Amino acid sequence: MQRQTRMTISLANQKGGVGKTTTCLNLAVYLSRLGKKVLLIDLDPQGNLSSGGGISRQLASEKSIYKVISDQLPAVEAVIPLPGTDVHIIPAGIDLAGAEVELVNRMSRESIVRDALSSIVSKYDLVLIDCPPSLGLLTINALVASDRVLIPVQSEYYALEGLGLLLDTVKLVKRKLNNKLELLGIAITMYDSRTNLSKDVLGELVKNFGKKVFETIIPRNIKLSEAPSHGKPIQLYAERSLGALSYQSLAEEVASRV
Ligand code: ADP
Ligand code: MG
Repeated sequence: MQRQTRMTISLANQKGGVGKTTTCLNLAVYLSRLGKKVLLIDLDPQGNLSSGGGISRQLASEKSIYKVISDQLPAVEAVIPLPGTDVHIIPAGIDLAGAEVELVNRMSRESIVRDALSSIVSKYDLVLIDCPPSLGLLTINALVASDRVLIPVQSEYYALEGLGLLLDTVKLVKRKLNNKLELLGIAITMYDSRTNLSKDVLGELVKNFGKKVFETIIPRNIKLSEAPSHGKPIQLYAERSLGALSYQSLAEEVASRV
């Protein structure tokens, strides 16, 4: 069935450890519970989205996004179900690690991911792409394949540093490669309401980005940090935790923006 208002969203931030993967996985699960048909793309060679979602290393290397972008496997054959959910995923295997270097020599190197996925995106309401922690060619490919970018920002001292460069990159991609690209929003993650620092960062972000900052703030929550080692999204690991409720609320906000 052809979906009507479908959208592809990249979760990007060149900093590692800011909550991209956690946000990607858990948003997907709650958006799916809101009735959206969701496909996840793991575009980080570390494969944390795949392993955190319970995909074995073996399966991730059999069905890897690398095989799709290097024309070894049609996209439709790389899609697998995310265990215990209605979400679909194309996982990342270790083979993706060499892709960044290889892509450099390919034709239309910035749109390889978009082209490789073009045969399947129309089957989904939402495609969420988990980016690696860099502004390299994989992230550029994700932005070219996307309608929106969602930026997770950790509420820490250096949070704003690097955000300018990321937004400049988004603007450049929009101007040169993908004019439909827009900022969906900034999601604050790992918030600690006990610290003034977290409050300051929040204030600073709201001052600079206003309504682009999602109202839902993701707190630092132990269950969120434990869930990946069990290969489960938070909804399957600790459904009633504050982390779970927060991602459910963020999913509702995202659904209202798309
Ligand atoms: P990124 O994908 O940006 O590198 P991750 O989502 O992998 O970031 O998060 C980095 C680490 O922090 C992971 O170990 C993850 O489990 C943990 N984490 C993410 N969000 C939270 C949170 N809200 N509270 C506690 N731990 C978190
Ligand atoms: Mg990650």
